[in-house]
Amino acid sequence: MKFKKDLPPNALYVHIPFCARKCNYCDFNSVVSGTKTIDLYLSALESELSALKGQYVFKTVFIGGGTPSVLTETQLEKLLCAVIRCISVSEVQEYTVEANPGTLTANKIRLLKEYGVNRISLGVQSFQDRQLKFLGRIHSGDDARKNFILLRQAGFENINIDLMFGCPDQSLDDWENDLETAVELNPEHISAYALTYEEGTLLTKNLNNGVISKLDECIELDMYKTVIDYLTHNGYNHYEISNFAKPGCECSHNLVYWNNMGYVGAGAGAVSSIDGARTSNENDIIRYVNGIGEGKNIKSFGEHLPDDQFASETVIMSLRLCQGISSADFYKRFGYKIEDQFGDQINRLIGDGLICYDNERLKLTEKGLFIADTVMTEFV
Ligand code: SF4
Repeated sequence: MKFKKDLPPNALYVHIPFCARKCNYCDFNSVVSGTKTIDLYLSALESELSALKGQYVFKTVFIGGGTPSVLTETQLEKLLCAVIRCISVSEVQEYTVEANPGTLTANKIRLLKEYGVNRISLGVQSFQDRQLKFLGRIHSGDDARKNFILLRQAGFENINIDLMFGCPDQSLDDWENDLETAVELNPEHISAYALTYEEGTLLTKNLNNGVISKLDECIELDMYKTVIDYLTHNGYNHYEISNFAKPGCECSHNLVYWNNMGYVGAGAGAVSSIDGARTSNENDIIRYVNGIGEGKNIKSFGEHLPDDQFASETVIMSLRLCQGISSADFYKRFGYKIEDQFGDQINRLIGDGLICYDNERLKLTEKGLFIADTVMTEFV
């Protein structure tokens, strides 16, 4: 039977690769650039977006980065106009823009609201200035609180707060304080990620030179257990390994990725996944801008995933969800049972108490959740 990968993409990701300053831990595709480069980039992005017009019906839009809120008000309006021209506003259910405290102004918030943005993802990371300084963030904890309040006053009813744990000198008390402050603000969604040391970042350099050392793994695990306990006791559903939401406020856009459905990416380095074909735009901003200007193909990478690999990726991504993957949905999508391809791994992991069936859904157990990366490698 033919694999059914051809679900039409209904999610649009738009990448803004600019930041006010590079954070010490960041390996994302983002740079600090002058106004001229940003203007050229936005014009190129406008062309790429206008070519998408009428091709897809997007239900979710996510403008991420980088720091979209680093754009000036004029640039932000240009971006929002370009996006609105390529979507059917009445079809879009969730429209998210990432913003960082220290770059948001009342006018930018007003523009976001005016152009139909209905969800803000605020990169808080911590409310404690010591942690923020260590991470190289440009803002204070107070900036984050003030920006959150400004967003609420402007009428945003769906706000995510990003938090980070596992900094070398962070104590469990520090982490609990951050969680308490976040819950007091009462956002609809909280993402809580452990600090990772990526190649090429200042933090990794400092780690390799012995300037800093990693937090003890047991304390980091305690922090992860704490966030799960604390947020679930405060009305948040733990619905993905690192994500928590008030009922009905799960991030629809990210659910597209976790369910391995199709999506379209625009901007430098943006990835698209359409009918099993994965492509990536040119990462380098200047090459991206010139490529668009010269009418060249701006895809720097493309692959058509073999069917078994696509199924494997789907299982890995879906197991990130606390509800796991539906065997019935897998069958509908791929035309064979999940056990036909992964029977050995499933039996072994069930035997080790790392995954289980909950009715017809295959999901991580609590034990599996704490070593999720190891469990996932079984399905590669
Ligand atoms: S604000 Fe975000 S994207 Fe920009 S440097 Fe910091 S972590 Fe990276």
